[in-house]
Amino acid sequence: MIKKYIVFILACSMLLLAACNSEDADGNTQSNEDAEDTTEDATESEGDNSEEDPDQTGDETDGANETDEKTDNTDDQSSEETDNQTDQVGDPEAEKQYELDTSTWSLTPIEDGTNEKVVLLTIDDVPDENGLEMAKTLKELDAPAIFYVNGHFIESEEDQEALREIHDMGFAIGNHTYNHQQLSVADEETQKQEIMELDEKIEEVIGERPEFFRAPHGDNTDYAKQVVKDEGMLLMNWTYGYDYFEPYMDEDKIREAMISGEAPEIDIDYSLLKPGAILLMHDREWTAAALADIVEGLREQGYEIADPNTIEIPE
Ligand SMILES: [Zn+2]
Repeated sequence: MIKKYIVFILACSMLLLAACNSEDADGNTQSNEDAEDTTEDATESEGDNSEEDPDQTGDETDGANETDEKTDNTDDQSSEETDNQTDQVGDPEAEKQYELDTSTWSLTPIEDGTNEKVVLLTIDDVPDENGLEMAKTLKELDAPAIFYVNGHFIESEEDQEALREIHDMGFAIGNHTYNHQQLSVADEETQKQEIMELDEKIEEVIGERPEFFRAPHGDNTDYAKQVVKDEGMLLMNWTYGYDYFEPYMDEDKIREAMISGEAPEIDIDYSLLKPGAILLMHDREWTAAALADIVEGLREQGYEIADPNTIEIPE
């Protein structure tokens, strides 16, 4: 048991260290130069004792389709627009059902009786080449997600329009820093700018500030954590994600890995898929190609795709 636990911690550390390292330029180079800087954060996975959670699965929840009532008194002319609004993935009015467990970076039900067998989908480095297409794929499947955005991807009018479309489909928008800045190597002023300027930019484009934050490489500092909290955002790492590791930059392999939770080619030969898992994916060609199958594969195993609107954001 202890051995398994240690392996789990090592795995988490490795995942955090490598995350997002592939995203410079063509997305094919990986580096581990940031490794030392992120070890502190990786250890936050310690204290993972949630794997033995009770096997109660609770009732299926249905947070996705409760927005229809709003449209009752609209007239015929606006019915098309109305359809767009009610057809959103996720429900902004949903009640809070889950809280973030920062020791395991997973979701846990706030109350007994809530379906614990959920996974949260998150897509980082949006909107680059594939983000809008990925949103359309998920929308088609009525699968909610958080899209973590970088400021350098929303400077052109075209990219801003892509972000607007993703938001209009009902997806949650998260802050992933303006320039994909690794926070632990930046001074405090830069860290603050990287977070605040993107909050402002996102608000300019979609009319509201993000509720979620994810640091590039999962590399958080105490200072940035405070800024994020002061901004009213929830800081979130992830349980597993593999599309930034060389062997998994492949449609078939990433499909299999995300559905099973296992990535034997990087020595994760046991599954990290468990109730409440937060799944990290990126705006990448191979992940976009596998995305629909990934959602279906998770659902076939009985997992519900969690609506980010149901996650509690602590004051
Ligand atoms: Zn990233």
